[in-house]
Amino acid sequence: MTWRDVRLPSERRVAALLAAATGDAACKRLGAWVDAEGDDLRPGLLAEGRRRGVDLPDEALFWPGKRLVRRARGREAPARERRNPIRRDEAFACAWCGARVPRGGASARDHCPYCLRSVHVDRVPGDRAAACGGILQPTSGTLEGRAGVVIVYRCDRCGHLRRNRALVDGPCPDDPAALRLLLAGAPVPPAAPRAGS
Ligand SMILES: [Zn+2]
Ligand SMILES: [Zn+2]
Repeated sequence: MTWRDVRLPSERRVAALLAAATGDAACKRLGAWVDAEGDDLRPGLLAEGRRRGVDLPDEALFWPGKRLVRRARGREAPARERRNPIRRDEAFACAWCGARVPRGGASARDHCPYCLRSVHVDRVPGDRAAACGGILQPTSGTLEGRAGVVIVYRCDRCGHLRRNRALVDGPCPDDPAALRLLLAGAPVPPAAPRAGS
């Protein structure tokens, strides 16, 4: 393995090591190797991480190898993509019906309580990483045990499918009439977007 070969220049070894650090398991394994035998690559990892735009402090030289390897890979590395939802609860103006929607409060607000529409902006809930921006149209609803009413969405621009829990408590819960329509398989008004508000 290239990164072990001390005859090679440090930059080449660092590049090979970071190229091999493709996931969390690999970072752990390679970080353990840095801790055990690869101390001489630490300055190179720090420099390469900074070259890739990662804000690494000087003390990163003394971080556990796993952390140094993981951070030095930079933003383009796939394992830096978040998989867990981010709790985000913000007021917004509905892109479909124009209603001013307050925060959800106890539960995070991710759709309009009046027309039930949402906007396709997340890859993982809350991450705002999807560039699409299409309207998530409620296509059906199901009643699922503890989750309560689950709204099934389809993006009207890219076809992305998504499921959100209905918001039934807090200061501004989802309109019960709209939820009933959805559960009955009927379209939820308004049928067309309202310009402005
Ligand atoms: Zn709306
Ligand atoms: Zn979309």
